[in-house]
Amino acid sequence: MQNTRLALATCFGFFVAATMAYSAPITFKARSQALSATSGGKYQSVESEVTWEAGKTAVIVVDMWDDHWCPNAAKRVVEMAKPMNAVIKQAREKGMLIIHAPSSTVDFYKGTPARKRAQNAPGAKPPKPLSKDVRWGTNWCWPDKFRETELPIDDTDMGCDCEEEYPIREAWTRQIDLIEIDDERDAITDNGQETYNLLAQHGIENVILMGVHLNMCVLGRPVGIRQMVNIGKNVVLMRDMTDTMYNPKKRPFVSHFEGTDLVVKHVEKFWCPSITSTAISGKAPFRFKNDPRK
Ligand SMILES: [Zn+2]
Repeated sequence: MQNTRLALATCFGFFVAATMAYSAPITFKARSQALSATSGGKYQSVESEVTWEAGKTAVIVVDMWDDHWCPNAAKRVVEMAKPMNAVIKQAREKGMLIIHAPSSTVDFYKGTPARKRAQNAPGAKPPKPLSKDVRWGTNWCWPDKFRETELPIDDTDMGCDCEEEYPIREAWTRQIDLIEIDDERDAITDNGQETYNLLAQHGIENVILMGVHLNMCVLGRPVGIRQMVNIGKNVVLMRDMTDTMYNPKKRPFVSHFEGTDLVVKHVEKFWCPSITSTAISGKAPFRFKNDPRK
């Protein structure tokens, strides 16, 4: 009897330990922009504490491609990729589902376990129809005039901030190889329905978005912020793991990095809160080398 009890207790102990290791809750501060009675009509940063179960959380990595038609944008992706990979690794170890979404290059991964994992997830019906609009070869969620103002930056020149002008072309062939793909656990897709199927299959309620470019793909892609918010997920943007296509020669004529901050605040006002990688890594947030601000 005693032995059985002991065995049961030990089993239970292992079970609890295994469950906890797989799906530990993470608690972090999420930042939004809010209007209040005392703010005089101005938005103010508000932080609130959020606790998510890691096993019900997905990380979606948008368009961290191997190359870009804008050399400065490509350089910033290279610079961000290594610290991003470290955060992804920690998120995976905590039990989060990692979805790599290098748009229009998923055929590069044809036949791989991670790609098949997305294709083979059982079909699931989203609570609201997914966007059927099309831009740049995928379904697209356009700005929602009932929900958000115009973007605070003018990106009509496509946002290249290089000294010279470069022709716009599809320079990308795959996700940058500095970001590891775990074929045992991760998934690869750029498709809204496949992404929804994965989220349903894994019981995902919470989504962390990271990658580029915030003013375009991270907001608009079928795996992006607008779509994830529209289907009712709890969404946060990892604001130190993103970048914009913004040229300081365009409105509002601020530095590239201030332009990115303005778009982050736009997201925090109208779509979802943001976090930094500190929430997962416990380390200081990532900063670009060329960011001159203190
Ligand atoms: Zn450029």
